[in-house]
Amino acid sequence: MSDCLFCKIARGEIPCRKVYEDDDVIAFHDINPVAPVHFMLVPKLHLASLMEADEAHAALLGRMLLLAPKLAKEQGLENGFRTVINTGKGGGQEVLHLHIHIIGGGNIPPMVRRS
Ligand code: 5GP
Ligand code: ZN
Repeated sequence: MSDCLFCKIARGEIPCRKVYEDDDVIAFHDINPVAPVHFMLVPKLHLASLMEADEAHAALLGRMLLLAPKLAKEQGLENGFRTVINTGKGGGQEVLHLHIHIIGGGNIPPMVRRS
């Protein structure tokens, strides 16, 4: 999509700190990290969110999930990491191009605090 931020990054029109790239996906560091390591794994295909994914995207999504731990380890997250996929307004998604956040390297608190 021409005016999508992550499509522009995928096309090299906006610079990023690249972690990985192949024909189908690109991974780059978040501009506003929430932990010492925080990068995003993004399909080059424009899909607004997980809500727009269907059977045709199963292989791509599967590849991304399998790539996540590989890239996380390469970034020093041998002890584990958090993956976050915000989906739509209800999920707090800000950039409407599907992406997996990969976060770690610091104190990762429980994701849901129960009082
Ligand atoms: P979302 O809330 O949509 O799941 O996450 C969007 C993420 O994109 C945010 O964590 C934000 O910091 C990051 N982001 C926004 N603009 C840019 C940018 O221009 N470059 C990079 N590398 N990350 C960005
Ligand atoms: Zn896009």
